[in-house]
Amino acid sequence: MVALIQFVFYLYIFVIGIVIGSFLNVVIYRVPLEISVAKGRSFCPHCQAPIKGYHNIPVLSYLWLRGKCADCGQPISIRYPLVELFTGLLALLVLAVYGFSFQWLVVFSAGAILICITMIDFDTMIIPNGLVLALMAPALVSFFFFPELGLLSRVIGIFVISLPMLALALFIPDAFGGGDIKLMAVAGFMLGWSHTLLAAFIGILLGGAVAVYLLLKKTTAKHMAFGPYLCIGIMTALLFGDIIIRSYLNLFGL
Ligand SMILES: [Zn+2]
Repeated sequence: MVALIQFVFYLYIFVIGIVIGSFLNVVIYRVPLEISVAKGRSFCPHCQAPIKGYHNIPVLSYLWLRGKCADCGQPISIRYPLVELFTGLLALLVLAVYGFSFQWLVVFSAGAILICITMIDFDTMIIPNGLVLALMAPALVSFFFFPELGLLSRVIGIFVISLPMLALALFIPDAFGGGDIKLMAVAGFMLGWSHTLLAAFIGILLGGAVAVYLLLKKTTAKHMAFGPYLCIGIMTALLFGDIIIRSYLNLFGL
């Protein structure tokens, strides 16, 4: 019986994550176009037909409609159900690490905003200011729900990566966008200085690997979005920062 209640609870959290993922799709699509995310029904990007309520059920409608718009038959991007499923899985992953708590709420909110930043930066190479501002909410609230992380560590966290990035951006134009720098400043307050270093390290490692791959492939693209790799770094540090840093120090007997 306990196992069943637990299963239903996990399923419930997963479904909440998927529903929020469905809203994130709206944010990812509308924010760069400067359309309000609150107003108006969802519509097909091809034929502009409003999407009927029973065709707007996350993941299931995509499968039911076999990935095609019910009105014009144009394919719907697989990205939509994937973002929904990923958000559902993230809700469960944060639950596994933090349990059902205010910490879950803080970390999952941050994760949801980071998903939007990742997708919009991939699409447009811009991190909207509004989303960096939105990330300030979980960052500030985390101050109360992660009290073991001191204020000094958080304040150093704001600058430890953003300042070097700013300096680099002044010497090497186009090295980073301003959005990347602001993102790392806000994330720095949320993470504290040691986890911010970890997040940046992961981001540079992943982003660097992708940059080398793109160079070897000799693509004509001159720029690549760096924000998504920073977001992966920030999320990894939020979820597993303690374990990673402790294992790393153990390697050297510290
Ligand atoms: Zn359509």
